[in-house]
Amino acid sequence: MSNIFQQEENFGSGVYAKREIAIVQGNGTTVWDENGRAYLDCAAGIGVANVGHCHPQVVAAITAQASRLITCQEMFYNDQRAQFQAQLAAALPGSLNRVYLCNSGTEAVEAAVKFARLSTGRPGIVAAMRGFHGRTLGALSATHNKKYRQPFEPLVSQFSHVPFGNIDRLDAAITDQTAAVILEIVQGEGGVRLAAPGFFQRAQRLCQERGALLIIDEVQTGFGRTGKLFACEHYNLVPDLICLGKAMAGGVPMGAVGIGPRVQNLAPGLHGSTFGGNPLACAAGTAVLNIFQHTDLTSRAAKLGDQFRRQIEALNLPLVREVRGLGLMTGIELRQRAMPIVQSLMDKGIIALTAGNTVIRLLPPLTITVEELERVVVALAEILTTEQRSTAREQLPA
Ligand code: PLP
Repeated sequence: MSNIFQQEENFGSGVYAKREIAIVQGNGTTVWDENGRAYLDCAAGIGVANVGHCHPQVVAAITAQASRLITCQEMFYNDQRAQFQAQLAAALPGSLNRVYLCNSGTEAVEAAVKFARLSTGRPGIVAAMRGFHGRTLGALSATHNKKYRQPFEPLVSQFSHVPFGNIDRLDAAITDQTAAVILEIVQGEGGVRLAAPGFFQRAQRLCQERGALLIIDEVQTGFGRTGKLFACEHYNLVPDLICLGKAMAGGVPMGAVGIGPRVQNLAPGLHGSTFGGNPLACAAGTAVLNIFQHTDLTSRAAKLGDQFRRQIEALNLPLVREVRGLGLMTGIELRQRAMPIVQSLMDKGIIALTAGNTVIRLLPPLTITVEELERVVVALAEILTTEQRSTAREQLPA
């Protein structure tokens, strides 16, 4: 066992399931392990390195900022924060023109839930089955999977769940005590699942009719992942609150909530975070927004993602039940467990994720090339064909 594994095993908390490689360097779509082996990173830090690992503009921004000012609490105004907030507000859909800055996706969800309760004076939050919103107690209460919830119960009260995409069940769940409905546009951890067209618009109409707010969690779908800067733009949807994280600062920890005009009662002292809006993350965030503004990363993601899914479908692999996704967010649902396939991909130098037991999830940097995606297609074809043959052999009578 390498020294790195040993130290993490000895001194880490134990709450993470580990894979046996130590990643020590990254550039663009590639990461390297401690022995210098290169991997094509189709996990991108779980949807973080959308602009690629160590993008030179992000590196330059944080290098310059690190020697000037790293921390500055929100008690004071700051040049980097001012610029980033203005640029992010301009990039957000429609009337989302204020931002709350924090340090992770779960904090963004936590803040959005608190803002919704504050704004409406109501306690209820309606979320979706299979939804994932983070692991702090509030966000965990909106998360659906029992595996994450049960060990920590009792969770926050007044949260309920309806089937994702089912407008009738949502209609029945929104009452005069509902502060907000929280939804992902594409359920990431829940298996890369999309809702039927029209669902989000109708959900928004219900919220507006009943005086509830609509929170869209774009922690995983944001910043170009789905082929638009924000996935709600696919549906011309402008929610009341949008939760952001992961890719927003090119790998530097950051989260945010975009806030629309229906959100009321946000007053000094009601919420906050020591590190929220720190100049280092803001400098990185501005660099990321500039990269998106001056490149075609989002339209590339849309085009390459569609091509990639068509190529996988065209293989007609018997072990593949369904290929789905939006932009460069792809789920390949198998007729067997996904983890052994993800392990075989890693043996071939490709890092991928699972989403539940049977879905392979691919979230590569949006800078991935056509050739690199073809490498993934070829590897999947080889692995799934071999796996199919050995399964068929096992099923033959002795
Ligand atoms: N919301 C969604 C949709 C996510 O996918 C995640 C993380 O995977 C979170 C919230 C939580 O983000 P974080 O892990 O940064 O707390």
